[in-house]
Amino acid sequence: MTETDAGRRIAELHAILREHNYRYYVLDAPSVSDAAYDVLMRELRDLEAAHPDMLAPDSPTQRVGAPVSSQFAKVRHPQQMLSLGNAFDEADLRAWRERVLKILGADAHLAYVVEPKIDGLAIALTYRAGLLAVGATRGDGEVGEDVTANLRTVGGVPLALREPQQKDEGRRMKDEESSFIFLPSSLPSSIEVRGEVYMRSADFEALNAGLAAAGEKVFANARNSAAGSLRQKNPALTAARPLRFFAYQVGPLEGVELTCQWQALAYLRALGFPVNRDACRFMDFDAVLAYCREWMARRDDLAYEADGIVVKIDDFGQQRELGVVGRDPRWAIAYKFPAREATTRLRNITVNVGRTGVVTPGAELEPVVIGGVTVRNASLHNADYITARDIRIGDDVLVKRAGDVIPYVIGPITSRRDGSEQPWIFPACCPACATPLERVEGEAAWRCPNFGICPAQLVRRVEHFVSRSALDIVGIGEKQAELFVSAGMVADVADLYALKAAQFVGVEGFGPKKIANLLAAIEDSKTRPLDRLLVGLGIRFVGGVAAQDLARHFGDLSAIIAASQADLEGIDGVGPVVAASVVDFFQHPVNLALVEKLRAAGLTLSGGTPRVRRGDGLVGKTFVLTGTLPTLTREQAAELIAAHGGKVSESVSKKTSYVVAGASAGSKLAKAAQLGVPVLDEAGLRELAP
Ligand code: NAD
Repeated sequence: MTETDAGRRIAELHAILREHNYRYYVLDAPSVSDAAYDVLMRELRDLEAAHPDMLAPDSPTQRVGAPVSSQFAKVRHPQQMLSLGNAFDEADLRAWRERVLKILGADAHLAYVVEPKIDGLAIALTYRAGLLAVGATRGDGEVGEDVTANLRTVGGVPLALREPQQKDEGRRMKDEESSFIFLPSSLPSSIEVRGEVYMRSADFEALNAGLAAAGEKVFANARNSAAGSLRQKNPALTAARPLRFFAYQVGPLEGVELTCQWQALAYLRALGFPVNRDACRFMDFDAVLAYCREWMARRDDLAYEADGIVVKIDDFGQQRELGVVGRDPRWAIAYKFPAREATTRLRNITVNVGRTGVVTPGAELEPVVIGGVTVRNASLHNADYITARDIRIGDDVLVKRAGDVIPYVIGPITSRRDGSEQPWIFPACCPACATPLERVEGEAAWRCPNFGICPAQLVRRVEHFVSRSALDIVGIGEKQAELFVSAGMVADVADLYALKAAQFVGVEGFGPKKIANLLAAIEDSKTRPLDRLLVGLGIRFVGGVAAQDLARHFGDLSAIIAASQADLEGIDGVGPVVAASVVDFFQHPVNLALVEKLRAAGLTLSGGTPRVRRGDGLVGKTFVLTGTLPTLTREQAAELIAAHGGKVSESVSKKTSYVVAGASAGSKLAKAAQLGVPVLDEAGLRELAP
């Protein structure tokens, strides 16, 4: 790239990033995904590194956030509020450590404090003489917005500091070495506490659902939702929003001395601030990497959105020596999780008919890679969802893919519309059987009422019946289910048991061995326990847990069919909704006929669950599961352990009998090694619990 080209591109990136900053920080309405923003920022950073003379003091790489909105009074921060440098992989994290050691000296003794990077917005709370005096947003890092009145309504923001107690002193935090920390026993004369205001994922979903129902604009994500909620003109509106606070740093401090971040966190907790319980201190860099890996695998276990792990050098003396570069402290870095959101074009909207007849719209997308997986289809939930967000065919949309959840469209980027986008109208008839769709009063879903016959519903019912959590028939998937239904081989799930080898002769993809295996798998499924059959029947609201409760209590399908609403509600764990659904299911003659057909086919319709002990070999033993096992899910492994009398616990201690570790196991594995707890793989577990 020539000097002129570089200069032109840098100017272009300045303009683009400034606009994105404005939309993100001031309007709380970003128009690109964070990952796309990060790519642009990285490009600018790289260009500036290659052409240092072109680094302007007002470059977005040198600034934090964006100018404050005129809605609020301005607050000048006594000490600049910084951003964080990013590491996108372990190599970046190692390179950061190298840079740190280069400055501090290769033999410097380092300790690291790590914690999830909550995706909220940074605020600074100043307390004088123990009372909250000012609360401000970060703004551009130098000047923030005075949102004190709003912050006073946020749960977790103390209005007055708690007097540190004698017993707080030396209280253990989750430190690798379980070392005691000395805590100052007095209140500071003044302290600035920095932290994150955020919204829990569940609260965010509920808030958005409420806003959508009221026909109001919904938020793109939990971070924008927290920012938008905090920056309300009327504090009563902020108070109505489910905001929370985590403290993670001490700013300017008077009257007390702190020497390291770990001590600062313990002191913040003693003063009455919520401090993230998942924070850890490590002396060993490999343990930091293991912690990052573990949380990357477990990010869905967090109750809030986290976009990475923050790693900080513990010692304040070392922090001072390291200082700041641009807008980022050199003593901290954010290890970013792979992005879960991306923008792409919505090509079309199609509908899918589920096993209960619910017709759901789905998005056909221009393929886009999110977190290493190419996403082509995404959920649009239901008709109301599309209407409330005004999602149109041809829109550029923000798509999210998180954990086990099916990727879904967050919403359109309306600022990118050119007028060619087409609003979408929900079909009036079932696309599979042309029956007019019905909408149940008070429900968002449209249904195809042709329950017994609609071929699309039947395909889904077969898929569900054979799935792992139900009858677990290996060899039947979507393709086979479609074939059986379209060829008329199966008119209900019980017909699977009437399949004969002769029916497959000449059918593509079915050789003699495959047919024999398939029929053997079908035969084998006849002895599955009652709870699995209950799941397979697809009774609304009856999942694995409710099915086990029912099977354990009644022990026989006939008894469940005969049970009244009151009988069912009397069972531990079964509520009125499940009870009503069970009663309703067995009132339909087609379902009763199906049960009879299954009985005639020779299925086990009685018996408890696998919980009814398979052995006593693990009585008194405690297991901790970590990482992904090759074939068992976490639930199945736990189930297996329970079936042999063992217990599963969350954290590794000296009392843990075994740690069962799979791929991407994290710090629990390190902890097991440290405490000398034996580690098993899946095969080892199966040996103990056959
Ligand atoms: P950042 O979010 O990457 O990291 C710094 C922030 O992390 C801190 O200010 C603090 O708010 C937060 N944080 C959470 N937990 C923390 C902890 N334990 N310790 C310290 N800090 C913690 O930086 P930023 O400057 O707030 O924002 C930059 C990021 O925002 C970008 O990487 C991008 O992903 C996103 N962004 C997106 C757009 C867009 O248009 N989509 C625009 C601007 C910024």
